[in-house]
Amino acid sequence: MRQSNLFLNTLREAPSEAEAASHNLLLRAGFIRQLAAGVYSYLPLGWRVLRKVEQIVREELERAGAQEILMPVLQPTELWKESGRYSVYGPELIRLKDRHDREFALGPTHEEVITTLVKNEISSYRKLPVTLYQIQTKFRDERRPRFGLLRGREFLMKDAYSFDKDQEGLDQSYKTMYEAYFNIFRRCGLDFRVVEADGGVISGEGDTHEFMALADIGEDTIAACSSCKYAANLEKAQSGELSIMSTTEQIGVVQKVHTPEVRTVEQVADYFKTGAQRIFKTLIYTANDKPLAVVVRGDHEVNEIKLKNYLGVEMLVLADAERTVAATGVPTGFVGPVGLKIPVLVDIAVLQQGVGITGANIADHHFKNVVPGRDFPALQQGDFRNVIEGDSCPHCTGGELQFFKGIEVGHVFKLGTKYSEALGARFLDANGREQAMIMGCYGIGVSRILAAIVEQNHDERGMIWPKSLAPYAVHLVPVSTKDEVQTMIANDLYDKLRSHGVDVLLDDRDERAGVKFNDSDLIGIPVRIVIGKDAVNGQVEYVERRSSGKQTLPIDEAIARIIDLAH
Ligand code: ATP
Ligand code: MG
Repeated sequence: MRQSNLFLNTLREAPSEAEAASHNLLLRAGFIRQLAAGVYSYLPLGWRVLRKVEQIVREELERAGAQEILMPVLQPTELWKESGRYSVYGPELIRLKDRHDREFALGPTHEEVITTLVKNEISSYRKLPVTLYQIQTKFRDERRPRFGLLRGREFLMKDAYSFDKDQEGLDQSYKTMYEAYFNIFRRCGLDFRVVEADGGVISGEGDTHEFMALADIGEDTIAACSSCKYAANLEKAQSGELSIMSTTEQIGVVQKVHTPEVRTVEQVADYFKTGAQRIFKTLIYTANDKPLAVVVRGDHEVNEIKLKNYLGVEMLVLADAERTVAATGVPTGFVGPVGLKIPVLVDIAVLQQGVGITGANIADHHFKNVVPGRDFPALQQGDFRNVIEGDSCPHCTGGELQFFKGIEVGHVFKLGTKYSEALGARFLDANGREQAMIMGCYGIGVSRILAAIVEQNHDERGMIWPKSLAPYAVHLVPVSTKDEVQTMIANDLYDKLRSHGVDVLLDDRDERAGVKFNDSDLIGIPVRIVIGKDAVNGQVEYVERRSSGKQTLPIDEAIARIIDLAH
């Protein structure tokens, strides 16, 4: 491609809302342009990278035996009512009506559509298993579209679905996809980690993994063991045995203490001259509109996902001050589990701690020497908290949990029969008995990968594309287009490399060298060949974008090296 013809406009500065490095650089380098919040056009360079990601995804999925299809974006919402997701998916589902007042949704995901499709095509175990996939634009009215391609409202996803006749079949299909994902993300050049994730109430077996690209901008927190392979999303992560703050005192009876205006964990800890571990904080939630209390240690946070799974509810809301008073009759800061009239859920770390300080359910008072089980019911107990850094690993001895930030680029999930039951996707097994198909679903954020790569591969000058995804393999930059020798050599190199099937971008613009080099750094093609004053002597400069390493080489050697690199 000759850059003078390329539909490209680089910007010196990105709009101020581009906080993430990837958002900023993809805009500045003219890879994408925003049309509306979370809605982007892909310009030629961005589209080329995206197609390379797609190509890797296709190759690995085909190798894994999956077959490509394309389903409609427009989905009748009756299907969503049938599956039961219409009411729970919420405002992320973009709904619209046709001229006959029939309601449709713009597909955010395709479980309903694929299950209906397969249900009508397959009726015998002989046709199973099958894994189908598509690469398609998805629509989600995200509450906070941000960071450019990282969280769009319209984005490109690869979604795959497997259908099996039994659980072992699903396990195998899942494993095959899991391995394909490894290959895909490795080939894309991502630094990633696979983590256990929360499967929600439906997954049951809890078999779900997320593929996380490690990056500080990531919205997910990963808890990973310092010594074994255990890694989980914070939503799901558990800890091993806890260290507790031991006490030498005799545990006496509960004592009421006057604690005027002492409300927060910090204030209570200060007042009682103790650690936050010894304070049991009580939070009020409403689950399906019924109030309940959760007790966790003062240094811990409630994990609402764990709580939802325990309760088997979809709707869980933390009560504000007003609702807390309505549910307990106590001002916030002084609520405690002793004598509370609503159900009390107790985190196991509280039980392990054994004795602590709680609100006394009277304004300006706390209780000390409170023992769970003795002074308040602890029958409803479980793991209801987020792990914290330094917690022990649940899988090995001696390991400690450390936190990392990650961008979820892929997700594999065992669905079981949730959709096949709801939508009636059944088959006859070898004994002629009717059974529901067993499903798995597998997503990859194709456009999100672009941003994740840039987050991991950039410097102050611009992006640095890995070879496998670079929009072009080599950038030819003649220093002066007014110099006939340089122009001739550049054109010659351009033709030779192209004839060897190398993707070449030739900066034939009549611009100052500084402008060309800045643009070249910004775009981030892995190798740049500078055709400058040594060109008359048959020499060019070979520059690696990542290391900035420069070498002067005879033209033929530069050509040979690039051809070698490109294949
Ligand atoms: P997140 O927790 O980031 O919202 P999700 O759990 O909603 O993701 P899935 O429904 O599993 O995501 O979708 C499959 C993949 O699609 C995700 O792994 C992610 O890579 C990508 N993805 C999801 N939402 C978006 C979005 N708004 N913009 C870009 N990519 C997305
Ligand atoms: Mg989401």
